[in-house]
Amino acid sequence: MTTEEILKQIAQQTAECTRCDLQFSRKKVVPGAGNPNAEILFIGEGPGFHENVQGLPFVGAAGQFLDELLADAGLKREEVFITNVVKCRPPGNRDPQVEELDACKPYLERQIAAINPDVIVTLGRFSMGHFINNGKISGIHGKPFWSGGRMIVPMFHPAAALHQPSLREVVKQDFAKLPEMIARAKETRHNNPDLAALNNPVEEDSAVEDNSAEQL
Ligand code: URA
Repeated sequence: MTTEEILKQIAQQTAECTRCDLQFSRKKVVPGAGNPNAEILFIGEGPGFHENVQGLPFVGAAGQFLDELLADAGLKREEVFITNVVKCRPPGNRDPQVEELDACKPYLERQIAAINPDVIVTLGRFSMGHFINNGKISGIHGKPFWSGGRMIVPMFHPAAALHQPSLREVVKQDFAKLPEMIARAKETRHNNPDLAALNNPVEEDSAVEDNSAEQL
Protein backbone atom coordinates (compact mmCIF):
# COMPACT_ATOMS: atom_id res chain seq x y z
CA MET A 1 0.00 0.00 0.00
CA THR A 2 1.18 3.54 -0.63
CA THR A 3 1.47 6.04 2.21
CA GLU A 4 -1.68 7.79 0.95
CA GLU A 5 -3.59 4.49 0.99
CA ILE A 6 -2.43 3.63 4.51
CA LEU A 7 -3.42 7.09 5.82
CA LYS A 8 -6.79 6.81 4.11
CA GLN A 9 -7.34 3.38 5.64
CA ILE A 10 -6.47 4.74 9.11
CA ALA A 11 -8.92 7.63 8.58
CA GLN A 12 -11.67 5.15 7.66
CA GLN A 13 -10.88 2.91 10.62
CA THR A 14 -10.87 5.80 13.11
CA ALA A 15 -14.20 7.04 11.72
CA GLU A 16 -15.71 3.69 12.74
CA CYS A 17 -13.58 3.20 15.85
CA THR A 18 -15.21 1.77 18.99
CA ARG A 19 -12.00 1.14 20.96
CA CYS A 20 -12.81 3.66 23.73
CA ASP A 21 -15.71 5.65 25.15
CA LEU A 22 -14.84 8.83 23.22
CA GLN A 23 -16.84 7.19 20.40
CA PHE A 24 -20.04 8.12 22.27
CA SER A 25 -19.43 11.87 22.49
CA ARG A 26 -17.52 12.63 19.29
CA LYS A 27 -19.09 14.43 16.36
CA LYS A 28 -16.34 13.91 13.81
CA VAL A 29 -13.16 11.92 14.20
CA VAL A 30 -10.00 13.93 13.52
CA PRO A 31 -7.47 11.48 12.11
CA GLY A 32 -5.02 14.18 10.98
CA ALA A 33 -4.28 16.07 7.80
CA GLY A 34 -1.47 17.24 5.60
CA ASN A 35 1.27 15.99 3.33
CA PRO A 36 1.60 12.18 3.44
CA ASN A 37 5.27 12.57 2.51
CA ALA A 38 6.01 15.24 5.11
CA GLU A 39 9.53 15.50 6.51
CA ILE A 40 8.05 16.81 9.72
CA LEU A 41 5.09 15.50 11.73
CA PHE A 42 3.34 17.55 14.42
CA ILE A 43 1.47 15.66 17.14
CA GLY A 44 -0.98 17.54 19.35
CA GLU A 45 -3.16 16.37 22.21
CA GLY A 46 -6.67 15.85 20.90
CA PRO A 47 -9.44 17.59 18.97
CA GLY A 48 -11.14 20.57 20.61
CA PHE A 49 -14.58 22.04 19.98
CA HIS A 50 -13.96 23.28 16.42
CA GLU A 51 -11.91 20.26 15.35
CA ASN A 52 -14.72 17.97 16.54
CA VAL A 53 -17.16 19.86 14.30
CA GLN A 54 -14.94 20.10 11.22
CA GLY A 55 -12.99 16.83 11.43
CA LEU A 56 -9.70 18.68 10.91
CA PRO A 57 -6.80 19.24 13.34
CA PHE A 58 -5.90 22.62 14.82
CA VAL A 59 -8.61 24.78 13.22
CA GLY A 60 -9.47 26.80 16.36
CA ALA A 61 -7.52 29.50 18.21
CA ALA A 62 -4.55 27.22 18.93
CA GLY A 63 -4.52 26.34 15.23
CA GLN A 64 -4.27 29.98 14.23
CA PHE A 65 -1.28 30.37 16.50
CA LEU A 66 0.19 27.14 15.11
CA ASP A 67 -0.04 28.63 11.59
CA GLU A 68 1.90 31.66 12.84
CA LEU A 69 4.52 29.37 14.40
CA LEU A 70 4.82 27.35 11.20
CA ALA A 71 5.40 30.58 9.30
CA ASP A 72 8.18 31.46 11.79
CA ALA A 73 9.80 28.17 10.80
CA GLY A 74 9.31 28.87 7.09
CA LEU A 75 6.77 26.02 6.88
CA LYS A 76 3.31 25.84 5.37
CA ARG A 77 0.53 23.56 6.57
CA GLU A 78 0.37 21.84 3.17
CA GLU A 79 3.93 20.59 3.50
CA VAL A 80 3.68 19.14 7.03
CA PHE A 81 1.38 16.51 8.57
CA ILE A 82 -0.58 17.32 11.73
CA THR A 83 -2.30 14.79 13.97
CA ASN A 84 -3.11 14.17 17.65
CA VAL A 85 -2.50 11.44 20.23
CA VAL A 86 -6.25 10.92 20.49
CA LYS A 87 -8.39 11.23 17.38
CA CYS A 88 -11.71 11.99 19.14
CA ARG A 89 -12.51 14.97 21.34
CA PRO A 90 -12.29 14.42 25.09
CA PRO A 91 -15.56 16.01 26.35
CA GLY A 92 -15.16 19.55 27.63
CA ASN A 93 -11.51 19.53 26.51
CA ARG A 94 -10.53 17.45 29.52
CA ASP A 95 -7.19 15.63 29.46
CA PRO A 96 -7.18 12.35 27.55
CA GLN A 97 -7.29 9.35 29.90
CA VAL A 98 -4.77 6.53 29.91
CA GLU A 99 -7.18 4.02 28.38
CA GLU A 100 -8.04 6.51 25.60
CA LEU A 101 -4.37 7.14 24.86
CA ASP A 102 -3.70 3.39 24.82
CA ALA A 103 -6.70 2.70 22.57
CA CYS A 104 -5.57 5.31 20.04
CA LYS A 105 -1.84 4.48 20.14
CA PRO A 106 -1.86 1.92 17.28
CA TYR A 107 -3.32 4.52 14.90
CA LEU A 108 -0.58 7.02 15.75
CA GLU A 109 2.13 4.40 15.44
CA ARG A 110 0.87 3.35 12.00
CA GLN A 111 0.73 7.00 10.91
CA ILE A 112 4.33 7.56 12.04
CA ALA A 113 5.54 4.42 10.26
CA ALA A 114 3.69 5.31 7.05
CA ILE A 115 4.74 8.98 6.89
CA ASN A 116 8.29 8.14 8.03
CA PRO A 117 9.15 11.73 9.00
CA ASP A 118 12.69 12.85 9.82
CA VAL A 119 11.42 15.05 12.65
CA ILE A 120 8.46 14.71 15.01
CA VAL A 121 7.39 17.79 16.97
CA THR A 122 5.35 16.96 20.06
CA LEU A 123 2.93 19.68 21.10
CA GLY A 124 2.21 19.40 24.81
CA ARG A 125 2.88 16.79 27.47
CA PHE A 126 0.56 13.98 26.29
CA SER A 127 2.22 13.93 22.90
CA MET A 128 5.68 14.13 24.48
CA GLY A 129 4.61 11.25 26.73
CA HIS A 130 4.28 8.99 23.71
CA PHE A 131 8.09 9.08 23.38
CA ILE A 132 9.47 9.77 26.84
CA ASN A 133 8.34 8.90 30.37
CA ASN A 134 8.31 11.59 33.05
CA GLY A 135 9.50 14.29 30.67
CA LYS A 136 9.64 17.79 32.08
CA ILE A 137 8.56 20.13 29.29
CA SER A 138 9.89 23.25 31.01
CA GLY A 139 13.37 21.69 30.93
CA ILE A 140 13.43 19.98 27.53
CA HIS A 141 11.26 22.13 25.24
CA GLY A 142 13.06 22.90 22.00
CA LYS A 143 15.78 20.33 22.77
CA PRO A 144 15.80 17.45 20.30
CA PHE A 145 16.38 13.82 21.19
CA TRP A 146 16.30 10.64 19.13
CA SER A 147 13.75 7.86 19.38
CA GLY A 148 13.17 4.99 16.97
CA GLY A 149 15.43 6.58 14.36
CA ARG A 150 13.68 9.95 14.34
CA MET A 151 14.47 13.31 15.83
CA ILE A 152 11.83 14.21 18.43
CA VAL A 153 11.45 17.86 19.40
CA PRO A 154 9.25 18.49 22.44
CA MET A 155 7.46 21.84 22.31
CA PHE A 156 4.95 23.58 24.53
CA HIS A 157 1.40 23.23 23.24
CA PRO A 158 0.38 26.38 21.30
CA ALA A 159 -2.65 26.69 23.61
CA ALA A 160 -0.26 26.97 26.57
CA ALA A 161 1.17 30.13 25.05
CA LEU A 162 -2.33 31.50 24.53
CA HIS A 163 -3.08 30.94 28.22
CA GLN A 164 0.35 32.08 29.47
CA PRO A 165 1.54 35.05 27.39
CA SER A 166 5.05 34.74 28.88
CA LEU A 167 5.43 31.48 26.92
CA ARG A 168 4.64 33.09 23.58
CA GLU A 169 8.20 34.22 22.82
CA VAL A 170 9.64 30.95 24.10
CA VAL A 171 7.45 28.92 21.73
CA LYS A 172 8.21 31.23 18.81
CA GLN A 173 11.95 30.92 19.41
CA ASP A 174 11.69 27.12 19.62
CA PHE A 175 9.83 26.96 16.32
CA ALA A 176 12.31 29.29 14.61
CA LYS A 177 14.99 26.64 15.26
CA LEU A 178 13.11 23.97 13.29
CA PRO A 179 14.68 24.52 9.83
CA GLU A 180 18.15 23.90 11.27
CA MET A 181 16.88 20.83 13.17
CA ILE A 182 15.23 19.38 10.06
CA ALA A 183 18.48 19.79 8.12
CA ARG A 184 20.44 18.13 10.92
CA ALA A 185 17.93 15.27 11.25
CA LYS A 186 18.03 14.57 7.51
CA GLU A 187 21.81 14.53 7.47
CA THR A 188 22.03 12.26 10.53
CA ARG A 189 19.49 9.82 9.10
CA HIS A 190 21.27 9.84 5.76
CA ASN A 191 24.62 9.07 7.41
CA ASN A 192 23.19 6.36 9.70
CA PRO A 193 21.43 3.70 7.63
CA ASP A 194 20.82 1.72 10.84
CA LEU A 195 18.04 4.03 11.97
CA ALA A 196 17.01 1.72 14.82
CA ALA A 197 20.32 2.60 16.50
CA LEU A 198 19.35 6.26 16.64
CA ASN A 199 18.01 6.28 20.18
CA ASN A 200 19.35 8.93 22.45
CA PRO A 201 16.98 9.88 25.22
CA VAL A 202 17.45 13.15 27.10
CA GLU A 203 19.60 13.21 30.20
CA GLU A 204 17.88 11.82 33.27
CA ASP A 205 18.21 15.07 35.24
CA SER A 206 16.24 17.08 32.70
CA ALA A 207 13.61 14.38 32.37
CA VAL A 208 12.31 14.28 35.92
CA GLU A 209 8.69 15.21 36.36
CA ASP A 210 8.08 18.64 37.85
CA ASN A 211 4.47 18.97 38.90
CA SER A 212 4.77 22.63 39.81
CA ALA A 213 4.51 23.98 36.25
CA GLU A 214 1.18 24.00 34.53
CA GLN A 215 1.77 21.81 31.51
CA LEU A 216 -0.55 21.81 28.56
N1 URA B 1 -5.42 21.11 20.28
C1 URA B 1 -4.86 19.93 19.96
O1 URA B 1 -4.05 19.39 20.70
N2 URA B 1 -5.20 19.38 18.82
C2 URA B 1 -6.04 19.94 17.96
O2 URA B 1 -6.28 19.36 16.92
C3 URA B 1 -6.59 21.17 18.32
C4 URA B 1 -6.28 21.73 19.49
